[in-house]
Amino acid sequence: MKHRNKPEAYFRSLVAGAETMIPLANGKYVTAINFDNAATTPPFCSVLKKIVQFSPWYASVHRGKGYKSILTSKLYEHSREVVRQFVHADKRDVVIFTNNTTESINMLAYALADQDEKQVVLSTSMEHLANDMPWRDKYKIEYVALTGSGQLLLKDLEAKLQLYENKVKLVTVTGASNVTGYVNPISKIARLAHQYGTKILVDGAQWVPHMPVDMKPYTSPEHIDYLAFSAHKMYAPFGAGVLIGPKETFSKAVPVYQGGGAVGLVSHQAIEWDEPPAKYEAGTPNIMGVLALTTAIETLNNLNLHDVCQYERGLIDYAIDGLSKIPGVTLYSADDGNEERVSLISFAMEGLHHSQIAEALSQEAGIAVRNGLFCAHPYVEKLLNVSEKEIEYYQTHDDTTIPGIVRISFALYNNFDEINIFLNLLEHIAKHLQ
Ligand code: PLP
Repeated sequence: MKHRNKPEAYFRSLVAGAETMIPLANGKYVTAINFDNAATTPPFCSVLKKIVQFSPWYASVHRGKGYKSILTSKLYEHSREVVRQFVHADKRDVVIFTNNTTESINMLAYALADQDEKQVVLSTSMEHLANDMPWRDKYKIEYVALTGSGQLLLKDLEAKLQLYENKVKLVTVTGASNVTGYVNPISKIARLAHQYGTKILVDGAQWVPHMPVDMKPYTSPEHIDYLAFSAHKMYAPFGAGVLIGPKETFSKAVPVYQGGGAVGLVSHQAIEWDEPPAKYEAGTPNIMGVLALTTAIETLNNLNLHDVCQYERGLIDYAIDGLSKIPGVTLYSADDGNEERVSLISFAMEGLHHSQIAEALSQEAGIAVRNGLFCAHPYVEKLLNVSEKEIEYYQTHDDTTIPGIVRISFALYNNFDEINIFLNLLEHIAKHLQ
């Protein structure tokens, strides 16, 4: 088979813990299968090595003239360049290090609030809560509608841009859905947003780790104005995230977090803010987290993301093909007619609650998947055709019947043998549990 020629053993060797043995409920040990990479990926071995190697050398950044402080500061600042080049951010953009995507988007929502009179934010009905809730308090938020199968309706985006002409502060959209794996037509969305005189934020949490991303120069109508993503979804540990956007935006606004590291001289009467990005990084930053992220990026660069993308595409096509042959399985992201998608898929099984399926996969074969509403409640409710009211009812009456789906999500170290184990078990579940 064609996909067998891909370098799966090599990809697998790059990730720490790919061969971890875990005990099952029956006491037997198996190699853990992690199909929950959209939540968090394990780290690259190169990342762990960097953390161990650099730990004796780290010091606080920008605070001293000591050798270690200067060395750490240099590496920390160089990391911004590594990130900038990875996503082709414009020279006029700043790369701000945050804790994660959620924090990045909250920080931007705070920063943009008082910059002009425009108060409408166009989000979509397919967003993770991280790219929905931060926009609710300070803005009039409108949600771009979806097709029946959960894809963005560009016509509705344009209609809303027309309806709220001159009032739209931002179009904010996910690069790739954490529920269906759909990749949004970001270039088209950016074009539309700019045509109507507004800006675009892309939630890159599920997008940046899986395919080459190009923010494009300011001169391009397809330019991405703001981008956010998390290290822990791209082979580095928790606690580092990224927010990229024009320096001008962050020069104007007062940051939500305030304190040392973000300022020049401060008296009891006055604050002299530092230049962004420092202005937006109050307190001692997560230096090791940032170095871990940039090491992960360098490893991905060495691999070539196109190859990774192609390999993951092979995995997802194979899984979709297998899943669609199992009786009673409904796929929520199988055939969108789109060439581009990220390596995750959601499904349900007739007669079985999503938590039963997830539990059986874990207990019988050590397969970790995600189940439920995936922090994208409105989207999953729409896909399942259940109302918010129904969900509320289930929540207050019987927790075990809350609707939801099961998600499998792959990263570059997963392989076809793992998918076969999963499909065989699921077939068995379909026969014996339904
Ligand atoms: N956006 C999307 C599409 C996600 O899938 C996630 C996490 O799963 C987030 C945002 C939030 O990421 P984090 O928890 O790292 O802030």
